[in-house]
Amino acid sequence: MIPSAFAYSRATSLQDALIQLQSHEDAKLLAGGHSLLPLMKMRLATPSKLVDLGGLKEELRGVRREGDRLIVGALTTHSEVAHSKVVQESLPALSEAARQVGDLQVRNRGTVGGNIAHADPASDLPAIALAFDAEIVVATLDGTEVIPAHEYFLGPLLTALPEHGLVTHVSFVLPDPGTQTVYEKYPHPASGYAVVGVAAAGGVGTDGTVSHIRVAITGAGEVAYRASAVESALAGQTPTEETIRAAAAQAAADGDIAGDLFASEEYRRHLCQVYTARALRRVFASQLA
Ligand SMILES: Cc1cc2nc3c(=O)[nH]c(=O)nc-3n(C[C@H](O)[C@H](O)[C@H](O)COP(=O)(O)OP(=O)(O)OC[C@H]3O[C@@H](n4cnc5c(N)ncnc54)[C@H](O)[C@@H]3O)c2cc1C
Repeated sequence: MIPSAFAYSRATSLQDALIQLQSHEDAKLLAGGHSLLPLMKMRLATPSKLVDLGGLKEELRGVRREGDRLIVGALTTHSEVAHSKVVQESLPALSEAARQVGDLQVRNRGTVGGNIAHADPASDLPAIALAFDAEIVVATLDGTEVIPAHEYFLGPLLTALPEHGLVTHVSFVLPDPGTQTVYEKYPHPASGYAVVGVAAAGGVGTDGTVSHIRVAITGAGEVAYRASAVESALAGQTPTEETIRAAAAQAAADGDIAGDLFASEEYRRHLCQVYTARALRRVFASQLA
């Protein structure tokens, strides 16, 4: 299918992108184009103008560690995240999630900023963002806004991104040393999107009980969520097959679980439990051994 007519220009700087975005009614930013172009071809999006961010790689691309944070630029592709040594060493769950996004073409073109801005409910990154207290850093012509992930994802394709806002980077809080971080996903067999994706992180104290635990789930419902009931059930417990199973049984409790043509609501609830248990077994593998 063919999109409706639109103007196109390549932004020469961040400021230029913001000015162009604001000065054209219905203008849209273009990053990797893997979500926007299909929508345009189906005429579900009919922007009057595309402002291409492709020339802003100096400003918006790359991964770096800053203190206890991992900063990922908006134009960084999923492939770059997956192959980054810094990500592999400091936040393996993010590396694991990036490796599982779509297929090679999607990972080579799709960007972290586009993924977070588009906020598909089956995207992988929202689970990682929630599990690791990410901040979404947004530039507007009025300045910079920092939006915590738990206030950012509001619904399917719905976020707290301000009108005419441009995501510049995403900043993840790195877990304490010794924390195991994992991402487990049941991918849709055609697209690779998460039917259910579970990000988990945790560790035990000197007494062998769970001292900290984070679980966030994407794909299962209208919007990604922290699985607080799982976390409460496991905190302070000795990790065993029984305590993990009991905690994972709560995996759907905090979500607005939904069914679709591919997976019924009941099946997704089941997948939430199964994939949460898998993730927790990996987090606490050395205690279970
Ligand atoms: C076949 C297929 C399979 C996929 N599988 C997966 C998967 O398994 N897991 C997954 O997580 N994702 C998946 N995706 C999505 C993909 O990973 C991209 O992240 C996603 O398409 C958006 O990134 P993009 O750079 O292509 O954004 P674009 O398509 O260019 O933009 C998407 C939206 O975000 C806006 N935007 C882009 N950049 C910014 C910015 N910096 N600031 C503000 N707004 C911005 C655009 O205006 C547009 O509205 C899949 C996509 C396809 C086509």
